[in-house]
Amino acid sequence: MPMSSAIYPGHFDPITYGHIDIVRRAKKLFDRLIIAVVANPRRPVLFSAEERVKITRDALAEFNLECVEVMSYDRLLIDVAKEKGVEAVVRGLRANSDFDYEFQFALTNRDLNPEIETVFFMTAGEYSFLSSSIVTEVKHYGGNVRSFVPRTVDEALTRKFASLDS
Ligand code: ADP
Repeated sequence: MPMSSAIYPGHFDPITYGHIDIVRRAKKLFDRLIIAVVANPRRPVLFSAEERVKITRDALAEFNLECVEVMSYDRLLIDVAKEKGVEAVVRGLRANSDFDYEFQFALTNRDLNPEIETVFFMTAGEYSFLSSSIVTEVKHYGGNVRSFVPRTVDEALTRKFASLDS
């Protein structure tokens, strides 16, 4: 039987339990999942692309998810999707505020390549408020982020802020 596959793009700056929740849900539907980290986003990021790829891989290691790959990309997502031979783009939905942007992103991608569908997964209620920027802000002011991110991500944040302060 052919394997079903999807690509899950995002900043992952850094990956949170909200993203991981989407990864686990997507893995129930797709045999293979590629997590695609935007290398040079138009908004400022805390971690470099290489750091975000490594942090994402380390964070997922403890979940023993088979056939999940992490890569970075620096061109049209839909071109990467085609090259990788995936059928779908995976995105996560939190509150209403995600909808406008996600709608635009999905319709643009469909326009660029109608063969690739976008599939949305609803996050667990407990992560519906969670974003990388909230985690970064809490950490920056010395708050405890362990309920938002795995230990390895927390450690990466500690190192990053220590290096920025020195
Ligand atoms: P952020 O908006 O936090 O910077 P990304 O750009 O990495 O996140 O988002 C990649 C995808 O993951 C988007 O579809 C976004 O809606 C989704 N996502 C991010 N955080 C969560 C969460 N807590 N629950 C569900 N989906 C999420």
